Amino acid sequence: MPPQPPSTSGINDHTHRDSSSHAPSHRNEQPLITTRSDAGRNDSSRSDPSRSDSSRSDAARVSANALTTQHEGASESEFFSPIPRGYQRGFHKYVVVLGTVMSGLGKGIFSSSLAKMLKDKGLVVAPIKMEGYLNIDSGLLNPYRHGEVFVLEDGTECDMDLGTYERLLDQNLSAQNFTTSGRIFKEIIERERRGEYLGRDVQMIPHVTGEVKRKLRDLAVRGDGRRPADVVFVEVGGTVGDYENGFYIEALRELAFEEGPNSVCFVALTYIIEPPALGEQKSKAAQLGIKRLMEAGVQPHVIACRASNPCSDKILQKIAMFSNVPLRRVFSLHDRESIYMIPEELRQDGIDREILSLLNLHDRTDTSQEDEHREQWKQFVRRLTIPRTRNVTIGVMGKYSDLRDAYASIDKTLEHCSALLGCKVEARWLDTTATTDANVAKQLEGVDAVIVPGGFGMRGVDGKIAVVRYCRENSIPYLGICLGFQVAVIEFARNVLRLDAASSTEFDSQTFKTPYPVISELPEQKKIEGLGGTMRLGGQDVNITPGSLAQFLYQGRTVVRERFRHRYEVDPEFIPQLEAAGLIFSGRHPTRPIMQVLELPRPGSVIHRTPVELLSAEGSADPTLGHPVVAHPFFIGAQFHPELTSRPLRPQPFFAGLVAAALMKKYASSLDLADPSNADVRRWVMTASVSTSATLSGTPRTPRSTVQRA
Ligand code: GLN
Repeated sequence: MPPQPPSTSGINDHTHRDSSSHAPSHRNEQPLITTRSDAGRNDSSRSDPSRSDSSRSDAARVSANALTTQHEGASESEFFSPIPRGYQRGFHKYVVVLGTVMSGLGKGIFSSSLAKMLKDKGLVVAPIKMEGYLNIDSGLLNPYRHGEVFVLEDGTECDMDLGTYERLLDQNLSAQNFTTSGRIFKEIIERERRGEYLGRDVQMIPHVTGEVKRKLRDLAVRGDGRRPADVVFVEVGGTVGDYENGFYIEALRELAFEEGPNSVCFVALTYIIEPPALGEQKSKAAQLGIKRLMEAGVQPHVIACRASNPCSDKILQKIAMFSNVPLRRVFSLHDRESIYMIPEELRQDGIDREILSLLNLHDRTDTSQEDEHREQWKQFVRRLTIPRTRNVTIGVMGKYSDLRDAYASIDKTLEHCSALLGCKVEARWLDTTATTDANVAKQLEGVDAVIVPGGFGMRGVDGKIAVVRYCRENSIPYLGICLGFQVAVIEFARNVLRLDAASSTEFDSQTFKTPYPVISELPEQKKIEGLGGTMRLGGQDVNITPGSLAQFLYQGRTVVRERFRHRYEVDPEFIPQLEAAGLIFSGRHPTRPIMQVLELPRPGSVIHRTPVELLSAEGSADPTLGHPVVAHPFFIGAQFHPELTSRPLRPQPFFAGLVAAALMKKYASSLDLADPSNADVRRWVMTASVSTSATLSGTPRTPRSTVQRA
């Protein structure tokens, strides 16, 4: 039975963004490290390494002595190490992952795989990504250069690696799991202006490094939001030797010094080159990279060697020898068929055991829990990697279509669906800047379903509208995400309601303003929601209409929570017209008229009114105005980003439905849904066929008298 974690009293509420930037620095903190007299008060008597004989090393004594009698803000002190309330020195452990040689080695995947291995054993893990750049967050970064902007439940806009952590750990993260140099400096400057440094000059050491340590210890106390962390996983962005992350590495060195032995485990991720001209692996670049880390005062405990092929024994021995790391702690991290294989293969190599030994954590693990998680994960990987006979192609109509990272979460979500539904899902990334009604059929040749993802700005929008029209009129399964939801509304307004030039005010220019702003910016709406800023960000509840396709996909739920990142929305003025013409808004804000899911009626459902009827009822003599809406097997749009909440073992339902609809479209004649091996497919395929007989009786309808003419 693992020991109980310390009391969680004093832990920040999980909605709390960041205590350090607002509260006086000492309000929620204990004195800087413990004095001799109160040394026992903060320490966990169970696991504080400073209490075990083996750990009463010189370093521990030096560290403890050096830090006694100091108090934050004491102007004579050379130390600045604020300790948050609830912090249990010796209980919280740290694994620090640093990259050497070069970036782009998959540090985030590696680090989250390590965290997953420990979480599977029942330990509470809390990852943090520390970026070197000066931006306050990732919100304004160009996805083309930096990859997708990932949005957390609390609205933090962060690096896409946080998505990797959430997916691998199946754990929601918050602002405390991400920081940038810019954010750290901003907090320090604000603190300085409030006079919290008590007249001292504010320096890189100890104050900036002290802020970094404060963040890490705050996170240790917060843990996973419910329980304090056994292990904080720290991933430092960039590569050792970069100018901009040097202060993070120095802070981590100080942290290890202050926390004492068996508390901080440094893992260096390095790279073994294999020049084609030589045809063999070379370790020199890796050795030099690790030396660089040692120059910064950090001796790695574990080394993982990225390489295209498994590292030879000779290479691993050389790395061990030149880095003072025992051979059993040097691992080959070569390319795998799937990143999801990494946790299991590293486990077989024993990296988890080594880390547990280094951190004295063996007695906190729960093996039966580990066996269960391992089995589930192995099944998922098996389903993902077995040869498949069925495959579908999903066209993703993006702006950044030549860079997969810009849509990393969509890519990953399709992978989750592929494992669930036992088919290969190929994403075809297509640019819509040159797409028109005339060439769209050609562009979509061989595509079984379409996603129009989120985006900003006018470029490629007309092409996206042509894509939506083609999908709507030709029964191609369609999923519109955020901008893809908005263009679906615009397309419907233009081609079904015949509101020519209907558009979003986002696309208005100096010379042209749309006469029918079916999508517009509604700042007063956001004010009511108290969201501040100009974007609606983060998790929000969505009410789902009973009887709708959305409700079917959400397995009958009537309230779901999804993540948003948008500025514009459906203008409530146009909702009655759009609905009267057959568009169904099946997901709404719980109290405001903000439309969050749209869909088209499915075959067999009762279509209450068409524009032709509507317009003639309103006295129009011209029946050619407007096209009657045609039922569609799978046409859905979300104002939120469903891809942000998909997890390997729980694919997001809209995506699962889309892939099932694509399978139905392609294999309808040969897909035997009665076959038990197709049970998972049947679960979602019903969305495309059987469930279509449901009538949308629960969908609110607008009384004819309230229908407005534009
Ligand atoms: N540009 C649109 C808006 O701001 C859509 C945003 C998105 O797709 N994330 O509302």
